[in-house]
Amino acid sequence: MLIADFQTPCSTCNGIGFVAGFQSCGSLIPNLRKACPDCNGECHQLTELGAQLWALYEPKIREVAQEFVQKQPPVRKLP
Ligand SMILES: [Zn+2]
Repeated sequence: MLIADFQTPCSTCNGIGFVAGFQSCGSLIPNLRKACPDCNGECHQLTELGAQLWALYEPKIREVAQEFVQKQPPVRKLP
């Protein structure tokens, strides 16, 4: 299995994560966020298989990450 089975380059920004503007009603509207609106600047989109895999593992990943953060010692503040 390859990473390409789970994600594909964004078709809106062609995998660069940036869109300068977009066509609307025949005129070019500047994209003030600059990041691609479809991939949020991540340059790729999940395939159907990737989305299913993410939906399956995301709750467990969040749980493990939260446990990890809670096990960290408290941050000491300098006097
Ligand atoms: Zn994109």
